Amino acid sequence: MKVGFYGHVRQYHNLKEEIDAAILEVLESGKYVMGPTLARFEKGLAAYFNMKHAIGCNSGTDALWLVFMALGIGVGDEVITVANTFFATAEAIWIAGARPVFVDIEPDTCNIDPTRIEAAITDRTRAIVPVHLYGQPANMTAIAEVARRHNLLVVEDCAQATGAAGDGVAVGELSDAVCVSFIAQKNLGTFGDSGGIVTNRDDIVDRIRALRNHGSLKRSHHSMGYNSRLDDLHAAVLSVKLKRIDEWNDRRREIAAMYDEGLRDTGLQLPVEKLGYRHVYHLYIIETEQRDEMLKYLNDAGINAKTHYPIAIHQQEGYPWGMPADLNVSLPLTERSAARVISLPMFPELTQAEIDYVIHIVHTWEG
Ligand SMILES: *Cc1c(COP(=O)(O)O)cnc(C)c1O
Repeated sequence: MKVGFYGHVRQYHNLKEEIDAAILEVLESGKYVMGPTLARFEKGLAAYFNMKHAIGCNSGTDALWLVFMALGIGVGDEVITVANTFFATAEAIWIAGARPVFVDIEPDTCNIDPTRIEAAITDRTRAIVPVHLYGQPANMTAIAEVARRHNLLVVEDCAQATGAAGDGVAVGELSDAVCVSFIAQKNLGTFGDSGGIVTNRDDIVDRIRALRNHGSLKRSHHSMGYNSRLDDLHAAVLSVKLKRIDEWNDRRREIAAMYDEGLRDTGLQLPVEKLGYRHVYHLYIIETEQRDEMLKYLNDAGINAKTHYPIAIHQQEGYPWGMPADLNVSLPLTERSAARVISLPMFPELTQAEIDYVIHIVHTWEG
C-alpha cells in the first residue's frame, strides 16, 4: 500500500464541479486582478475569523512582511520569534529590515515558550511573532501579557492554523494582526500561492492595502509599495473551500484522535493538544530518537512521511545572510525537537484503510 502526504488532488476531485464553475466564472468576467471575486473572498475571510478586516496578498510570507512594514517595523528593530518554523517567518522579518531573535520552545507543544520571552527583550525589540506551529495556537494569553508589559506589537503567524483556537481565546483576539498562507498544502489552500492578513486595527488596513498594490488605493500612489495581490482566480477557489474548512479541520482532528489511540502504546512522543484548545493538525508530529532510521522505514513501507523542520533556522546554512545575527544563539529544546520530529500523513481525504495502515506500520517499527 502507498500512503501519500497531501490530499490536494483528492480534494479537487471531490469539489471539481463547484471549483471548475467558480474558475470559469472568473475567466469569463475578465476581472482577474483586484476584482470583485477577491473582494468577496476578503469579506468571507474576515467573517470567518470574526474580525473586521481581511486583505489578500501573494503569499503567507508577504502577509508577514506587509504587516511588519505597515506597523513600521524595520531597520534596527528586533522581532522575537522561534527557530522551529518554516524559513519564511524569519525571512519576512529580514525582508522588512529587522532582525529575528529566537526564543526556545515548550517541549510538548513545540510552540514558543512565553516564560522565555522576557529574557530576549532589548531596547530594540518591537514585536513578538508567535507561530501557531502544526495547527495549535501558541499561548496567546501569556504572550499578550508580556507584550503589554513591554509595549510590544504582536503578529500571529497563523500559516498552519486557519480555524484553530486557544483556550477561550480566538486567533486574532489578542494581537495586532494575523497572517495566513493559502499555498496548496495548507489547511485552506488554493492551486498555487497566496496569503492573507486579518486584523481589527482600522489604522493599518489602508496602509496594508496600499503596500500590496504599489502604494496605491485608488489612482495615485500614497507611498512606495510592492506588487503582492491575491489573484481573483485563487480567490474564487478559496471562497469555495472556505465553506468547508471547519468540516475538514474536524476530520483532521478525527484522524489525529485515531492516531493518538492507535499509537499510544508505542513509546513515541505524540502531539499534545492543550486543554480547551482547538488544534487543527496541519501536521501530525511524532518524535523519536531514531528519526532518520524510522523515516526511512516508513518511506520504504510506502508511507510518505516527512519531517518538519529537520534543521532549525539558526542552524541553516543560508542563515544569516546579510544580517547581523547572533551566531552563538543556543536553543537546546528547539534543536532537540528538530532532530526528533516525523510528520505522518495528515489530510482530510485519508481513507480508513490508509490510517489503519500507517498505525500498523508504525507498530512494526522496532526502534
Ligand atoms: C507556509 C508558512 C509560511 C509562508 O507561507 P507561504 O504562503 O508559503 O509564503 C510562513 N510561516 C509558516 C509557519 C508557514 O508554515
